[in-house]
Amino acid sequence: MTSTPAKASTAPLPLSHKPTAKATAEARPDAPSASRTACIKTFGCQMNVHDSDRIRRMIQDAGYAEVQRYEDADLVILNTCYVRENAVDRVRGHLGELNRLRREGRVKKVALTGCIGAAEESATLQKTYNIDLVLGTHNTYELAEFVGLPTMRETYTPELPGTEGGHSSFVTIMTGCNYQCSYCIVPTVRGRMICRPLQSVVEEIKNLVAGGTEYVTLLGQTVDAWRHEGKRFCDLLEAVSEVAPRVWFTTSHPSNMEDRTLRTIGERDTIVKRLHLPVQSGSDRMLKVMHRGYKAERYRRKIEVFREAVPDGTLSTDIIVGHPGETEEDHEQTIKLVEDCEFDSAYIFKFSPRQGTEAAVLPGVVPDSVVQRRFLEVLREVEQNAFSRNQRKVGGEEEIFVRHGATDDGKAIGETWSGHAVHVETDAAPGSYVNATIESAGPHVLYARASESRKGSATNNSGLPIPSS
Ligand code: SAM
Ligand code: SF4
Repeated sequence: MTSTPAKASTAPLPLSHKPTAKATAEARPDAPSASRTACIKTFGCQMNVHDSDRIRRMIQDAGYAEVQRYEDADLVILNTCYVRENAVDRVRGHLGELNRLRREGRVKKVALTGCIGAAEESATLQKTYNIDLVLGTHNTYELAEFVGLPTMRETYTPELPGTEGGHSSFVTIMTGCNYQCSYCIVPTVRGRMICRPLQSVVEEIKNLVAGGTEYVTLLGQTVDAWRHEGKRFCDLLEAVSEVAPRVWFTTSHPSNMEDRTLRTIGERDTIVKRLHLPVQSGSDRMLKVMHRGYKAERYRRKIEVFREAVPDGTLSTDIIVGHPGETEEDHEQTIKLVEDCEFDSAYIFKFSPRQGTEAAVLPGVVPDSVVQRRFLEVLREVEQNAFSRNQRKVGGEEEIFVRHGATDDGKAIGETWSGHAVHVETDAAPGSYVNATIESAGPHVLYARASESRKGSATNNSGLPIPSS
């Protein structure tokens, strides 16, 4: 069975995949001349996008110029995702294409990194597609040696920041995951949770902000499980909100989400008022089978606290349909929970069996046709709700952070402080703010016209200057 993630509404926004600095000898005077070229292709979540940033930094250090097309690259690096089978299918397609280009002499070397690299299946892929180097998620530093740098285990650690200087930056606060959800391959390919010290996170963010970063996204598989030397996630979030002009975090686990954190989101002006809290199912029976560690009622209570603490906030979630053993009654409970929580958006996934996970061998496989129907029913429920919530924004004035500059149609992509994605007519540069009137709304996005723009983070959402750190 394949899985199809459906983005049923606004969040998360498209990510900035473009390199923040071009790998040319001019851009890094310390680098050898860029007679070699490399192309990095990223699949999957923000964690992978961020890992690609680190890889980018390595190849820049080794003197490679980054190119966008396989045909122009001496070295192609596929940084991959293994969470659902359709992600692996996509990578297979790219590997087939690369084999062809290599036979024609247009690509010299291929490296496979990331979650597929950490899975057993990588050995077969390496043989089938003649991949030169396969690396998992823990030994990416070995790529340094492959691209001609001395081996730098100490240098290329999880604490290494990505490329600096962009208006938006990802900052990893923890890696791995200590949960064992029945369906999930992440603990196998990413290992157990390791949390970064608070001071190291804050220092990195200060440097990023000094280099021009306006928007920091804290990353981890269960960021709210972060703890270190007696400090908990909320302490870290508070500290970050004091040094970053704008901050968001993803992804969280309902069992770790503290009311205090939810209230902090409402109280701190620099925190984007958007919560992504994956629920997976509305049925207690399924939540138990999945080993999620909470009941639907507890999830609903968290959402009540969020809605009360952050009345203008947006809420998104992940839902899996068709997990083995899911009955019609379980499905109805999911629909009910979706109705009750009034999500602004949801990623809906059809269950995808992952070899080595408990759910891959569970009885009670749900037929494809049933999965498809349930998928559409959940999607319709989320979209209807998101559409009517978005309609309420029409006519309002919003301060919008521009994430991607205008394309040919004159529309830039931005984000409101409440976390709505907005298409806004403006020529303001990425990283700046515009004031705009919301003119219309769909289930996924708001449409606005800018009245005024300004650069960077001189003010926050309350219009007050941000205290300097
Ligand atoms: N750590 C997050 C949490 O606890 O919810 C989720 C991280 S996971 C990489 C992202 C999403 O992929 C999950 O929330 C889940 O909905 C989906 N997912 C993971 N494994 C899946 C599978 N085998 N089939 C379908 N969807 C899956
Ligand atoms: Fe996977 Fe998230 Fe569960 Fe961890 S908490 S096993 S990352 S779904």
